[in-house]
Amino acid sequence: MSVTGPCQRGVLRHLGPLRQASTASRWLPEDGLTLQDFASQPRHPAAQLGDAPASTRGSVFMETYGCQMNSADSEVVHSILASAGYSRADSPAAASVVLLNTCAIRDNAEAKVWQRLGYYSNLKRAAPRASPGPVVGVLGCMAERLKHRLLESERLVDIVAGPDAYRDLPRLIDLVSGRGAGTAINVQLSADETYADVAPLRAGGSHSAYLSIMRGCNNMCAFCIVPYVRGRERSRPLASILEEVHRLSDSGFKEVTLLGQNVNSYADFSAAGEAARATFGAPDEEGFRSVYRPRRAGAVSFAELLDRVAEIDPELRVRFTSPHPKDFSDAVLRVIADRPNVCTQLHMPAQSGSSAVLAAMRRGYTREAYDALVDRVRAALPGVALSTDMISGFCGETPADHAASLDLMVRHAFDAAFTFAYSDRERTHAARHLADDVAPAEKLRRLGELVAAHRAGLHRRAAEERGRTHLVLVEGASRRSPAVLTGRTDTFKRALFADVAVPGGLAPGSRPVRLAPGDYAAVRVVAATGGALRAVALARTTLTEFVAVHGSALPLARAELTPAELAAAAELLAAGRSEEESGTLQASAG
Ligand code: SF4
Repeated sequence: MSVTGPCQRGVLRHLGPLRQASTASRWLPEDGLTLQDFASQPRHPAAQLGDAPASTRGSVFMETYGCQMNSADSEVVHSILASAGYSRADSPAAASVVLLNTCAIRDNAEAKVWQRLGYYSNLKRAAPRASPGPVVGVLGCMAERLKHRLLESERLVDIVAGPDAYRDLPRLIDLVSGRGAGTAINVQLSADETYADVAPLRAGGSHSAYLSIMRGCNNMCAFCIVPYVRGRERSRPLASILEEVHRLSDSGFKEVTLLGQNVNSYADFSAAGEAARATFGAPDEEGFRSVYRPRRAGAVSFAELLDRVAEIDPELRVRFTSPHPKDFSDAVLRVIADRPNVCTQLHMPAQSGSSAVLAAMRRGYTREAYDALVDRVRAALPGVALSTDMISGFCGETPADHAASLDLMVRHAFDAAFTFAYSDRERTHAARHLADDVAPAEKLRRLGELVAAHRAGLHRRAAEERGRTHLVLVEGASRRSPAVLTGRTDTFKRALFADVAVPGGLAPGSRPVRLAPGDYAAVRVVAATGGALRAVALARTTLTEFVAVHGSALPLARAELTPAELAAAAELLAAGRSEEESGTLQASAG
């Protein structure tokens, strides 16, 4: 912990012994992290789901940017602050503390945060002397990346806390509260922090939950800032994960997404001892390699974790993200195939279709290995929905490399793709050693071609959907119309269907019911677009009943549409585009 800022001397006088506490004021070393960048964090008492004490110290408003990991972290922060006596504020105006949980993955993610900090700064300036406006803190990846630079920026920020410092937040807030001056920072990374004993405080209203199973990443892909801002990979003990899944199931959740930067390298050594943890250096397998990959003998693997999570509640869907292509085992595919409640949907971030670029990116696989993996996955999991990440214009990418990326998009026809033009991030391997030599306009041109190739693939996939029956977890009314419900299929496709009375089960003669959020529904697709499925609801059901009737949570058979379904399709299409759709509308003709 260290403090800094314009009124540093005044704050230090208040801090006393804290002055001797460890500091995290160093910049990261040129060659990455060292042992000194990691330290045990002071432990904060565990908070239980929903047991927030009455507010005694103030209220907190949080804004979350970036990935699902950040959303999950914000729930951990709420829990830590709730057990320290802070309640959740509905708006910044009602809050004594405003925290921005940030992303540093790209410049534009940070630009949004700078904009918000400017807004809060104006708010504070306009506040009357007697009530000086909220304490403002920056958490997460941007906090870790910029450290003191955030505090030095026109006094926009009072608190800076990195992703492993959340247990320290109550103390950091205390340090800057009530004095109207001074700043506090803790950006120390940890070798073992997983917040395993902190029960996230989730906002109500959703039946889906995120659950972090690991933190950090050891892969050091050339373009990626994550290992620098989230630290070394560490896995949360299996027992604490299972305990949280039990709590979710008991609380009525219907879906859990297991989160980590590289989930399929999950390895829980808590029952295996230090000897197993220390063995590094895996042999190459099937074209995948990584000098960073530890041998995981003796540890609980991701496949085992997935199986243990799935067996807890057959009505609880399980998803996970993000896996790394180089760490995909057949054992994981077997669990997905064998457990109907593990969704048949995988994120397989390719990043490029060119082996030369993949080598420059230090991804640990070739194009051929990636293609073979996708073929293996599709053979093992018929109907699987695949998504990917792609970067255009990485350092040294030639027109031929770009053509290989387009070819990859066409060949695999992904169900979703996250495409980005490359921009370098300070301190990464690429920023330090490779020339960012593709012109910005050319990067954007190539990005446009990647997007177009993806859209073409989406339409191919959409054409296969008409007439299929899907199991949908109902989320509620669509944003467009209260008369239209929305939910996600097993394959994570958004489905839209009219809110009408349906049979309460798949058995003939089931009494009619109205669907509600958290229900499973059987729906038949009547029209598919790039981004969403238009469907008619057939019945309320359960995951177990649906599988018993259809033989799978993802039946691929396609039915002829009835005249009523055709009419529903026409009606839904006439309703026009919805905000859920990003691509072009396409009434697939079968
Ligand atoms: S696997 Fe690579 S891209 Fe993903 S978080 Fe780790 S370093 Fe970044």
